Amino acid sequence: MLNIVIFGAPGSGKGTQSERIVEKYGLDHISTGDVLRAEIAAGTELGNTAKGLIDHGQLIPDELMIEILAAKLDKLAGGKGVIFDGFPRTIAQAEALKTLLNGRGEDVTAMIELDVPEEELMDRLLKRGQLSGRADDNEETIKKRLVVYREQTSPLKEWYKNDGKHCYINGSGELDRIFADIVAAIDSKI
Ligand code: ATP
Ligand code: MG
Repeated sequence: MLNIVIFGAPGSGKGTQSERIVEKYGLDHISTGDVLRAEIAAGTELGNTAKGLIDHGQLIPDELMIEILAAKLDKLAGGKGVIFDGFPRTIAQAEALKTLLNGRGEDVTAMIELDVPEEELMDRLLKRGQLSGRADDNEETIKKRLVVYREQTSPLKEWYKNDGKHCYINGSGELDRIFADIVAAIDSKI
């Protein structure tokens, strides 16, 4: 099984590149952001909790997020593998993912870091906000999300380096070139 973590700051292109990776490798896609937005749209209790946090650029608490991820993973038994998009975002989540996968005799195959400068992230997210109307894609919330990324999420680069899974990708520029670099990185870990 191929288990890919796609990693990067908000707006780094995780969702866009995930679609291409899914198509090429036949993986299932778990986007925790999409899962939470579906809960919000459905007006569930979880959705209400998530909305307050997302609109303030904050993360959903680890315990809750890990529970949601585990439930999604359970429903996917038997495929070719999974791409994890937006998870893990903290060290505790990375440890939980490793435990979950190890419990199935598996592990993360590769962690793909999409690196994009902060000024470019801000530009992309402001544009996305205009097009999609995503409530968290406004300047004030984006700034908070970038701080949360720097403080809570970026330490995972080191964590995955120590685990031997980290692959660096320059996430600025041509979509096709970025995808080709991702494929080369994944293939080097298989
Ligand atoms: P991208 O633009 O690269 O897809 P993003 O950060 O803009 O990334 P999502 O991954 O869709 O957007 O996440 C949106 C919000 O959902 C986050 O800001 C956070 O509040 C919440 N969230 C998503 N995944 C997690 C997670 N693993 N742990 C905690 N909160 C999460
Ligand atoms: Mg996304």
